[in-house]
Amino acid sequence: MSPPRKRILSGMRPTGRLHIGHLVGALENWVSLQETYDNFHLIADYHALTTSLDTSALYENSVEMVIDWIAAGIDPVRSPLFRQSRIKEHTELNLIFGMLITKARLERNPTLKDQVRDLEIENLTFGHLGYPVLQAADILLYRGEVVPVGEDQVPHVEITREIARKFNAEYGKVFPEPEAKLTRFARLPGLNGEMKMSKSAGNTLLISSPPEEIAAKMKRAVTDPLKVRKNDPGRPEVCLVYTYHKKFNPGGAPEVESACRSGALGCVECKGRISEAISGALAPVREKRAYLETHRDEVLDTLADGERRAGEAAAETMGRVREAMKLG
Ligand code: SF4
Repeated sequence: MSPPRKRILSGMRPTGRLHIGHLVGALENWVSLQETYDNFHLIADYHALTTSLDTSALYENSVEMVIDWIAAGIDPVRSPLFRQSRIKEHTELNLIFGMLITKARLERNPTLKDQVRDLEIENLTFGHLGYPVLQAADILLYRGEVVPVGEDQVPHVEITREIARKFNAEYGKVFPEPEAKLTRFARLPGLNGEMKMSKSAGNTLLISSPPEEIAAKMKRAVTDPLKVRKNDPGRPEVCLVYTYHKKFNPGGAPEVESACRSGALGCVECKGRISEAISGALAPVREKRAYLETHRDEVLDTLADGERRAGEAAAETMGRVREAMKLG
């Protein structure tokens, strides 16, 4: 008999339509993990409140994101998709976990320090300081044993492990200590050359983009600044277009690399090639998305089913927590 499959909790904040950075950094990983793990996929709408109190687009953004998840290959029959705010146990467990960790420990969280600096946050809220605790509740509510993350999220998984240890030591073993599983290709640079593709930086390519839009955006993408004329030798290692070739055109990338270096390949042609490769890779996603957009009732039914299944799993864990804590 094969051993039981480990459980994974992974999620994203509902930011609306997703870009190819999400595809490469998380979604492809999630799709391959569903073959070997039991996955729960969380729409982290409460987490979105840490950086913006405007909730007017949260629902619509959640639905758009679910459409992209399914279009990219997430199978909602195998993996429940659900909104955090629909499962009340997240907030209950968050409250209990908040008693198991000190304020000083949360203040030492390096990811938080980066956010405070990058977002220029002057008055950190209680909720924002404590968001790794809510994240621990998200993971442990489903007794997740594996958490697929980028490097910047590893400290949060460590906090989750500490909280699980503390709870188990205090009340008896209820929770696993989940392991961080680093994503294979964690980051795709933005079209403007910034290290990270992000909606706020306006340097993205949506996974639902039609071919014309991909071509138009790629035309404006930054390249090696020292390659000014077509026949100038280039440096693919500093060019984001070459990074995209390695990902979306792996078979052609070695030829692009040598032709760029020798000056035989100009940036206009190189960008045309990568536009076609990206368009081709995204074609099945676009097609599935077009179907789902015209069948929103199916998407909403899928979400309702995921929330029912997630709710059952969460209620079961909270039952164990109450029993362990003798809460009656
Ligand atoms: S030829 Fe291609 S890889 Fe070389 S600098 Fe131009 S866009 Fe970048």
